[in-house]
Amino acid sequence: MEKITMKVPLVEMDGDEMTRILWQMIKEELLLPYIDLKTEYYDLGLKYRNETNDQVTTDSALAAKKYGVAVKCATITPNAARMEEYDLKEMYKSPNGTIRAILDGTVFRTPIVVKGISPCVKNWEKPITLARHAYGDVYKNTEIKAPGPGKAYLVFEDDNGNVTKELIHEFKGAGILQGMHNTEKSIRSFAKSCFNFALDTKQDLWFATKDTISKKYDHTFKDIFAEIYETEYKSAFEAAGIEYFYTLIDDAVARVMKAKGGFIWACKNYDGDVMSDMVSSAFGSLAMMTSVLVSPDGVYEYEAAHGTVQRHYYKHLKGEETSTNSVATIFAWTGALRKRGELDELPELVRFADCLEKATLQTIENGKMTKDLALITSLTEVTVLNSQEFIRAIRETLESLLK
Ligand code: NAP
Ligand code: MG
Repeated sequence: MEKITMKVPLVEMDGDEMTRILWQMIKEELLLPYIDLKTEYYDLGLKYRNETNDQVTTDSALAAKKYGVAVKCATITPNAARMEEYDLKEMYKSPNGTIRAILDGTVFRTPIVVKGISPCVKNWEKPITLARHAYGDVYKNTEIKAPGPGKAYLVFEDDNGNVTKELIHEFKGAGILQGMHNTEKSIRSFAKSCFNFALDTKQDLWFATKDTISKKYDHTFKDIFAEIYETEYKSAFEAAGIEYFYTLIDDAVARVMKAKGGFIWACKNYDGDVMSDMVSSAFGSLAMMTSVLVSPDGVYEYEAAHGTVQRHYYKHLKGEETSTNSVATIFAWTGALRKRGELDELPELVRFADCLEKATLQTIENGKMTKDLALITSLTEVTVLNSQEFIRAIRETLESLLK
């Protein structure tokens, strides 16, 4: 087979620890033999981030903005222990946070569904994609502990000094207070990212808040979604045969449990935090979960939902065998290659991405898998493979599919 050529480079963000090892293996075994891989490479490994005072992270995000598609390996978010381990000049921010601040947008997480690994919820036949708004609300709150009786107010002073003041509560004794905010700009970009992603993946979009109780705060989310849908997306949704559907959050939760899957569930920040952990654990494993950041102006950054799998890396360093699951990292690559293929009108690149995903799933369905999946599969004839053997087994399946 002749190697597939690419037109525009993919922004490649390398990372840390065990996932950095898998990254290299995936490229060598599953990509480079088949694709004349064009990437603009950024090393987000902590060592190089430290050498560049984290400039490399910013540069990689700007490159993603320029080219439109990036693929990212998991990276270490520094903490006190990492300061010492890597002799860091400072405690750099999470690369994902830095990238998100530059690109803006929404993170979509989708479980990878494979025969033999069944969700705990037996009627979930198709994946449920969770879209979490990643700005504001309780994550940027201000809190006060009221020590005793008194009046609490919510006050807004505009730039001209005009004041709006509402009594929150007249305390008869001690109590607690919380102030939260969000911005129209952020809610609008959240809504647009969700509508674009629904169109892109041809799936219905659900959105839910508690607007019956929160008549201004949550209702603003509902209104902004409705306005953008009506004015910018309705006809495209109708043409694609998909639906936008708004309901109350408690109703959404009840419906999700009874649904078959195959839709996108957009959530406010807190709901998304809580519900994404529920959905991902019910579907099986973090190692089978993809994650893509979609910016409002259409930049896509693909990655795995899990971290750098530190425990396995330390085993690897000691020369011990590891059985680390590379599926989510492979799907980050296929997601990015497929998107590049669509944007650049390279159907053979899209086909290759489809084929590699199929080969990955077929390998597992044939009973060849890593230890984490072997522990939860309902298949009876299972061969547990180490990190490298698993990737080589996928290559074998891929070769047979490409014939
Ligand atoms: P982790 O990498 O998500 O792994 C936690 C545990 O989950 C592993 O020890 C392993 O369990 C299991 N696991 C996760 N992914 C797996 C895979 N692909 N195959 C098999 N098992 C898998 O979290 P961590 O080890 O606590 O964090 C390591 C580093 O990752 C931290 O420095 C953190 O900052 C970073 N992190 C980065 C991102 C990101 O870049 N997006 C996200 C989260 C965390 P067993 O040990 O039981 O096998
Ligand atoms: Mg959480």
